[in-house]
Amino acid sequence: MSVEDAQNMISNNPRDIPRIVPGRACGSCMMCCKILRIEELDKPTGVWCKHAVTGKGCGIYDDRPRTCRAFFCNWMRDASLGPEWKPDRAKLVVRVQRNGTNLEVSVDPSFPRAWTRQPYYALIKRWAQGSAQHRRYVFVSIGERTIVVLPDRDSDIGRVGRDDHVIITRRVGPAGLVFDIEVKRGVLVKT
Ligand code: SF4
Ligand code: SF4
Repeated sequence: MSVEDAQNMISNNPRDIPRIVPGRACGSCMMCCKILRIEELDKPTGVWCKHAVTGKGCGIYDDRPRTCRAFFCNWMRDASLGPEWKPDRAKLVVRVQRNGTNLEVSVDPSFPRAWTRQPYYALIKRWAQGSAQHRRYVFVSIGERTIVVLPDRDSDIGRVGRDDHVIITRRVGPAGLVFDIEVKRGVLVKT
């Protein structure tokens, strides 16, 4: 898994279009236009897209790339995330990684500690505690910096590029499960 792989699953199949919570709309939010890496535009994570027009939206809406057309953050898809989780308010975009398993909380680099505030941190930690036993993990990304949120600790693993691969293994220790993290550099992982 590479953090750069962490855009939501993309499909041309209309049946794969995710279910949006009734009544929920992006409105004035454009956080994914800053936080996402857009392959087709060669846009890195954490910087505004050159086509984003403040207060108006996408300047190339009809011609926007497939990645943009397919993306809906978890706030749009999960009714349990309240209004405080709307990305332009939370300064966080929550999404399922392309592997369909791990969760990624992408932080607006202008507010790098946004994920540590409450109520956000408490729920992020609960996600980590509930999912690690099923080999699903929670990552916080701030630009290319990555933090693995585990049940027993938050581990800052530094810069993780698109060709890097994060491997998390589990073993049983005296006090329960112990998680080991290894970052393999320069290994392109196909998904
Ligand atoms: S981050 Fe979510 S709510 Fe905001 S514009 Fe993107 S899809 Fe819409
Ligand atoms: S192309 Fe449009 S929708 Fe896509 S990131 Fe840029 S401004 Fe946002």
